[in-house]
Amino acid sequence: MWLKDKVAVVTGAASGIGRATAQRFAQEGACVVLADVDEGGLEQVVAAIHAAGGQACSKRCDVSQEAEVAALMAFAAATYGGLDTVFNNAGIEQPTTPSAEVTEALFDRIIGVNLKGTFFGCKHAVPHLRKRRGGTGTIVNNSSVSAFANVGGNVSYAASKGAVMSLTRVLALEYARENIRVNAVCPGVIDTGMNRRNLELASDPDAVQERWLDATPLGRMGTPEEVAQTVLYLASSQSSFTTGVGLLIDGGRVAT
Ligand code: NAD
Repeated sequence: MWLKDKVAVVTGAASGIGRATAQRFAQEGACVVLADVDEGGLEQVVAAIHAAGGQACSKRCDVSQEAEVAALMAFAAATYGGLDTVFNNAGIEQPTTPSAEVTEALFDRIIGVNLKGTFFGCKHAVPHLRKRRGGTGTIVNNSSVSAFANVGGNVSYAASKGAVMSLTRVLALEYARENIRVNAVCPGVIDTGMNRRNLELASDPDAVQERWLDATPLGRMGTPEEVAQTVLYLASSQSSFTTGVGLLIDGGRVAT
């Protein structure tokens, strides 16, 4: 078991990539604290983990609110006696909009969750991670292929994910000597609620889906479970000499 007796926090854990990762972490022996704004969704995932014999509990947390993120990390450490790994995953999409029409309110909302939420998750995890003897803490941030390749119409989302990559590198440098490793995953098009909502809003959903698949050499969407497996690798000691990287899980898109 790759996370036996480790304590993990997963944000955005009520659905999609966060849910799959919380379940994968629990299968690997972690005690998992699941956080999200969707409390009903959290209850369902915690019940599924318990039914499978895993250990988990949940706490409502809006990651764009610093005090709530600080309280989440303190709750995890108090509940399970410390903190070993955090997956800052919660994120929201920007409805496709030309950049010149993006309002300040929309830009602020996306940056508030995707970028500030990730920053708060890192900031408030570090004091708990460094308390672990031997310092083997890990942080994994959810960036995106959008940090590297885009089709347009998502300026605030792409900016937030590029910045998540940059802050990942800065934290990796700052805490390397304490053996706290900070990495990111950069998923391509993954089959989750986020992309289903994007398709529902499109004027021609079939054309949008075809464009996504054409841009992906492997010719399909990835699954949340495929991303979860990569997060598990970065969160565990299997990746013990890796810090400050963004691992693409994009079906080959950036290679094109
Ligand atoms: P999703 O919509 O299924 O899951 C996102 C979760 O985050 C939801 O449960 C939602 O309730 C939660 N959330 C939203 N705002 C929150 C907030 N303020 N505080 C706490 N929780 C909040 O989508 P997903 O695809 O699983 O997305 C997870 C992450 O993966 C996001 O950061 C997203 O940007 C990233 N990502 C997704 C894809 C993709 O193709 N699906 C690709 C690259 C990156």
